[in-house]
Amino acid sequence: MEPEKKEIIFRSKLPDIYIPKHLPLHSYCFENISDFSDRPCLIDGATGEVYTYADVELTSRKVASALHQKGINKGDVIMILLPNSPEFVYSFIGASYLGAVSTMANPFFTAAETIKQAKASGAKIIITQSSHVPKVRDYASDNSINVICIDSAPEGCSHYSELTSGDETKLPEVEISSDDVVALPYSSGTTGLPKGVMLTHKGLVTSVAQQVDGENPNLWIHSEDVVMCVLPLFHIYSLNSILLCGLRAGAAILIMQKFDIVPFLQLIEKYKVTIGPFVPPIVLTIANNEESVDKYDLSSMRTVMSGAAPLGKELEDTVRIKFPNAKLGQGYGMTEAGPVLAMCLAFAKEPFEIKSGACGTVVRNAEMKIVEPESGVSLPRNQRGEICIRGDQIMKGYLNDPESTKTTIDSDGWLHTGDIGLIDDDDELFIVDRLKELIKYKGFQVAPAELEALLLTHPDISDAAVVSMVNEAAGEVPVAFVVKIDGSSVTEDNIKQYVSKQVVFYKRINRVFFIDTIPISPSGKILRKELRAKLAAGVPT
Ligand code: AMP
Repeated sequence: MEPEKKEIIFRSKLPDIYIPKHLPLHSYCFENISDFSDRPCLIDGATGEVYTYADVELTSRKVASALHQKGINKGDVIMILLPNSPEFVYSFIGASYLGAVSTMANPFFTAAETIKQAKASGAKIIITQSSHVPKVRDYASDNSINVICIDSAPEGCSHYSELTSGDETKLPEVEISSDDVVALPYSSGTTGLPKGVMLTHKGLVTSVAQQVDGENPNLWIHSEDVVMCVLPLFHIYSLNSILLCGLRAGAAILIMQKFDIVPFLQLIEKYKVTIGPFVPPIVLTIANNEESVDKYDLSSMRTVMSGAAPLGKELEDTVRIKFPNAKLGQGYGMTEAGPVLAMCLAFAKEPFEIKSGACGTVVRNAEMKIVEPESGVSLPRNQRGEICIRGDQIMKGYLNDPESTKTTIDSDGWLHTGDIGLIDDDDELFIVDRLKELIKYKGFQVAPAELEALLLTHPDISDAAVVSMVNEAAGEVPVAFVVKIDGSSVTEDNIKQYVSKQVVFYKRINRVFFIDTIPISPSGKILRKELRAKLAAGVPT
């Protein structure tokens, strides 16, 4: 018998820290609140309204109590279908007090997309804005789901003021275990359709601690900071690395509903924003709007973090010029991983050198390995392979989907990311490719399987495959290879419109290419590599 090979495991350059994993998420976030209870916690960028830490903690408890009155108990799911807003925060934290679970959805989802997630997650309450009510009204009334709106109360809905006027003295004592689920974002992971990612109290506490706790409190956010919260809170990057890290650190969180370059720059100047968690398309917009950018004083910014998708060298340079006092670093996340796997240590007390293109090093209290995808053998430094992560921060699994859970988290507890990367001599991680099907449009997930299923419902399509195509503005866009039924005269535009009507804007198909057959492997898997190679060789006609 061959001797078992020793695994090659990489760890942070910083020492491990103590993490209070026994605390429920809300207790952990507010653990040090007495140090900053009168300081600004949330600033509503649109109205200028400021809510202190004491306000936010109290309102969240009121909301929790009212949610309980409306029948929400431990383990129940509420759906937050909102843009960034104080109500988003109260709802999420309020649900945590009850041991309930929040599933966050993009408010721009179509009715079908929204209902799919509401159904799959078993949400009992939907918190939204009146403009989104028509999408969920019938589903909600057929299933006795309470719809609560933050701006008004259309027929059959409650107004959010019913929650903020809850009686916090009636908040029940709930026993929450560290393994209970608190957040349920949806992600397609390495393959297939979007699935509910079960993130626990322990998982999110660990992930936040890895970013802001311990010997190096300056790693990411500290209490004097003003953090720009323009990335959507329904995505785990913003929820975890901005909101939860900001709360734990005692920073002021500046809420912006929608990214628009001029108001964005005005807010940075007005509130002297110090931390900018961005995604590459925001950096690209900054680069393309030199005239506007130069009118504003952006010198308050001390940290710019880019994540969710690769950031090119030219964009890195732009950030350095436009934010002269800021350190620029990248972070690498994946919803299932809690989400942060690696982050730049440029912000540590004794900073490490920032390498262009690197995503930082693996977070503390975690293990990372790079494996040869076919054999699973772990690889040494400087060799490319699939990035795997292990630690308390990763998901508990996919909701009601043990099979997908098993293919993502192996029996030794390693989460397989489907990303290809390498770790260099200085422990810096570089992402070089993606093994999985996922397409990322401006950092938003597009699952090819979802679009393929939709294309196959078109009467003129007999087979279809969706892959990513490089696009300057979006990073990647979905394109479809389609086999028409015999004699069909369906056009590219017909198909694009058919899909557009049924999906949120970033899942719209950018191009349709007609082919005779979709290449598949002997086991029936679409050979996406071959299709991507066709694109790389020049757009097929
Ligand atoms: P999501 O679950 O939506 O956060 O998407 C996770 C995926 O986004 C990862 O598995 C990567 O493929 C990609 N990603 C995230 N951060 C980065 C980064 N800094 N550079 C390159 N790709 C990234």
